[in-house]
Amino acid sequence: MNGEKIKELIEECDAVVIGAGAGLSTAAGVNYGSKDFAKLFPELVLNYHFTDMYTSSFYIFETEEERWSYWAKHIDYLCLSKRASSLYKKLYNLVKDKDYFVVTTNVDRQFIKAGFEEKRVFEVQGSLTKIQCARACHDKLYDDTKIIKEMIKENKNTKVPSHLVPKCPVCGGKMDINLRKNDFFVEDDEWNEHKRSYEEFLNKNKNRKLLFIELGVGFNTPGIIRFPFEELTHKYASAFLIRINDSNANIPYDIKHCAIGVKANIKKVIDEMVREEE
Ligand SMILES: [Zn+2]
Repeated sequence: MNGEKIKELIEECDAVVIGAGAGLSTAAGVNYGSKDFAKLFPELVLNYHFTDMYTSSFYIFETEEERWSYWAKHIDYLCLSKRASSLYKKLYNLVKDKDYFVVTTNVDRQFIKAGFEEKRVFEVQGSLTKIQCARACHDKLYDDTKIIKEMIKENKNTKVPSHLVPKCPVCGGKMDINLRKNDFFVEDDEWNEHKRSYEEFLNKNKNRKLLFIELGVGFNTPGIIRFPFEELTHKYASAFLIRINDSNANIPYDIKHCAIGVKANIKKVIDEMVREEE
């Protein structure tokens, strides 16, 4: 199946659910490993032997000043300083006039930056733009964009000044980025509202021609997008699933009649869809 055929399916359907994983941001050029990493962050290479922004995110720093220096660079590099990529913008243009909803494990804000309406995007695994109490002593998230920019400005080599290290306003303990990596992930009111909106969207469209488009979702956390998309395609009478993935595009036998796996480069497929309009 090529991009043009997929575009026809989008035009014919009543509603679209986009499910996106790391593969989409990688295809969009928003990725953790950069060939310029050593050039951009020589101090991270020199002090910690880091090679990319993914493996380095598991490192246990000795001090909070160093930890926030690292995370400020990570957040600024992958999110705050990045504009919407052309791939996400193309995707937006393909569905903007449809009844759509997005569910994603990506934490880089690309959907919002590209124009997708915030209330129609469910960021299941959190966002780089939010921080929380590291021990989840209360269910509130705090916007970090201002403090991160300040850290970037005041950062010296691999340390931020101590007065910029955030502290939990309730328990006084450490703060953390709102990313699901342990049992302390905070799901605030807004997160729950997005979850509800997603469920309502599915429910509202279960008897209509609902198109699931899955982009770059692998087997890291298949229980969030991949398996539910398969189950719902199976359950809903008029649903159809398009799974675009450059390595794992297999479709289970029981939904072969209402699903298609496209094993291809996501960028190439989306470019095919948009090309004829240019
Ligand atoms: Zn706390």
